[in-house]
Amino acid sequence: MSLKPATFRAMAAATGEPVGPAFPVHGPADVAAACAAAAEAFPVYRATSLAARATFLETIADEILGIGDALIEAAMTESGLPRARLEGERGRTVSQLRLFADVVRKGAWQQLRIDSALPDRQPLPRPDLRMRMVPLGPVAVFGASNFPLAFSTAGGDTASALAAGCPVVVKGHPAHPQTGDLVAGAIARAVAACGLPAGTFGHVTGPDHALGEALVTDPRIAAVGFTGSRGGGLALLHLAQARPVPIPVYAEMSSINPVLLLPEALKARGPELGTAFVGSLTMGAGQFCTNPGLVLAIAGDGLDAFLEAAADAVAAAPAQTMLTPGICRAYAGGVAALESLPDVEVVARGAPGTPAQGMAALLRTDASAFLAQPAMGHEVFGASSLVVVCADEAELRRVLSGLEGQLTATLHMDQGDLALAQRLLPLLEDKAGRILANGWPTGVEVCHAMVHGGPFPATSDARGTSVGSLAIDRFLRPVCYQNLAAELLPPVLRDESSGDGAPRLIDGSLTL
Ligand code: NAP
Repeated sequence: MSLKPATFRAMAAATGEPVGPAFPVHGPADVAAACAAAAEAFPVYRATSLAARATFLETIADEILGIGDALIEAAMTESGLPRARLEGERGRTVSQLRLFADVVRKGAWQQLRIDSALPDRQPLPRPDLRMRMVPLGPVAVFGASNFPLAFSTAGGDTASALAAGCPVVVKGHPAHPQTGDLVAGAIARAVAACGLPAGTFGHVTGPDHALGEALVTDPRIAAVGFTGSRGGGLALLHLAQARPVPIPVYAEMSSINPVLLLPEALKARGPELGTAFVGSLTMGAGQFCTNPGLVLAIAGDGLDAFLEAAADAVAAAPAQTMLTPGICRAYAGGVAALESLPDVEVVARGAPGTPAQGMAALLRTDASAFLAQPAMGHEVFGASSLVVVCADEAELRRVLSGLEGQLTATLHMDQGDLALAQRLLPLLEDKAGRILANGWPTGVEVCHAMVHGGPFPATSDARGTSVGSLAIDRFLRPVCYQNLAAELLPPVLRDESSGDGAPRLIDGSLTL
């Protein structure tokens, strides 16, 4: 019987060699201890004032900035992502925490509702009914490999769960243990500085599925946030559903983000679109959940000009270090599988690089081949995209109808494409969580109207978003108080309260 090592180290993305300090391989007992601490912290943490909770989120942001360059250096080594990208990502992480602090303070997330008693109503009186949202309980978060800061230890899932009043236990991504450890230290310092129970935040580490399985099946965990592979997300979803008490899993898994090039736009600016498209395709070695992996267009001169410019840009694209050797292998295998399919033509490949680097790939097929081979529609995580040439609108609609759920769908259009775009819109709404016009899907703004979600397999629950302030809703549930004496009601639901500035729906009218 072989003994498991008690520690593990990161692998440098560029070389695959072990790097940095050793980190503990946590086991089921560590998971149980973190979940027990989270459960103990829950009643105290959920009862914090909105001001105290907001200050806590801001303190985490300050502590992350306080780590300084050591955080960027660690993330660069572990992920292979360049400095500028990681500095931008740290900025996003911090502003995301501050956005949630603002959301918490303003209080609208509580969705306060009051339906006054109608004692004289016939044939039956109506009782006094009041409602607010309350936190679900301790949340398990799986950090994402492709956003080691903004979607990992203190990323969007953690920030939104903490904002909701839920303690969080993070399962650190094994590809960036040092980055995760530095951020976990920052959160732990914020917990202490704000006088919160230590179990408000827990962090377990190790390169082993058993760890994530123990976390999701721990009876004290009330919900899960995950970003990663379809296989990983589904495995955790099935475990969560098979628990004696099933819990929600918000898993963001795979999306190929169709880009539709409408005829007038193609005619007017095919070459510019081709070059700009490759900029989006190759950004971050294509390791974005919103990477444009599918292009749909109707055959014509404009499409030829687009393909020529895109082919030149792909051929000139340098190979880029990918996040992990496993992700690099999966990318190379995915492109090779696509290339080997009948009716798939290689339009261009990027420059070759080291074994740790991915070469961009642009492939092309026609709509009938795409419709006949569903594997062409599966995510290849990296800078690979398939252009599907359609004969006419009817064929374009058939391709769209056959697609799986997506995070995004993009229209490139001119004024002359308006009528076609209008006809396509209901189909796009059925398929995607975000519809863009004349832009590229890879930039995801963190704000109030953002939706980073979509029908399966983009996510396991199309009703939510994992980016933007609406993400808080995933970790809340409604409680209705019927005929409770004022002393028993939450203060914000009492008659004499102004809701502490939060909007309230009183007898159907929004009161600010
Ligand atoms: P992953 O393999 O799904 O791992 C994500 C997290 O889940 C890790 O902490 C992993 O840790 C854990 N995990 C995975 N499978 C599990 C299972 N069956 N049971 C319990 N825990 C499990 O994702 P990844 O490592 O980030 O990348 C692998 C592939 O995922 C990529 O090649 C890409 O296809 C896809 N991906 C997609 C996106 C996207 O946004 N669409 C983002 C990142 C990755 P352990 O391995 O330690 O268990």
